[in-house]
Amino acid sequence: MYKISLEFSIDGENPLDAVKEIANILTTDIYGLTYVVQNEETSELFTVDLAEEDVDAVLPLKKYEQFIINSKTMKKGTFTSVWDGGNEIITNAELDEETGKVIAESVDVDDLDLEYLDKEYFTDEEGNEYSICPDCHEYVMREKCFEGEGNGNDYDGQQICSNPYCESNLI
Ligand SMILES: [Zn+2]
Repeated sequence: MYKISLEFSIDGENPLDAVKEIANILTTDIYGLTYVVQNEETSELFTVDLAEEDVDAVLPLKKYEQFIINSKTMKKGTFTSVWDGGNEIITNAELDEETGKVIAESVDVDDLDLEYLDKEYFTDEEGNEYSICPDCHEYVMREKCFEGEGNGNDYDGQQICSNPYCESNLI
């Protein structure tokens, strides 16, 4: 069994226009295209170029890069850090929902005479708060889930950092 992928990158006014361009190519130039093929059993990858002579048509492919990538889902909001039992610093920030990473406008706290960081959190535009990891200060915490015996995932209430490479997750 083989998996076969045919990929296009083409200019177009809009999605429909771009696909119509492709439909044109498919009806007139189907033999001028290159196909990416994977042997399902061995996972071996090849490109097949039908424009080449048969002996030259199949080439091994080292690595397949995913062609279509999901668009990033950035949530707008604010980043709040609370210092010394109540001093809040709030800046604009964005949360990447996929990775849990928060990118905040940086503030120079050195001049502000603050000593102890109590907590940090991201607030989205609907007012939902997400705790920021106290170790890396860059990713939101999420509930650890485990493969439960029931259907789907169960949550055990423990909060872990979204960043799998965070020090807090490597202990
Ligand atoms: Zn972390």
